[in-house]
Amino acid sequence: MNELLGFITRPTGQTDETHEDSNRPAREETVTEKVTCDLCGNEIKKERGDAEEVQVSHRTGSAFPDGGMGEEVSVDLCGECFDTKLIPWLQEQGAVPATREWDY
Ligand SMILES: [Zn+2]
Repeated sequence: MNELLGFITRPTGQTDETHEDSNRPAREETVTEKVTCDLCGNEIKKERGDAEEVQVSHRTGSAFPDGGMGEEVSVDLCGECFDTKLIPWLQEQGAVPATREWDY
């Protein structure tokens, strides 16, 4: 009992805190994660104000209004690889990609 209490209320002296600070730059490691294209390897950047988004994924499972679960298979593609590699390949297979304009 005493050992348990001693563990939970472990003293947090000044030396202990400075020790943790110097050993844990954890906040700096959780910065933005780079996403790279799975085909060309280039970083997929999105500049502020750009509308540039590629989604290639297949989601399966069970979905009901109160919940669901399943699996999603996806690849990260840059816009150029989507336009110059995936779309031409799909067209070779006979697919006709749809293009629509958007605004809001
Ligand atoms: Zn690419």
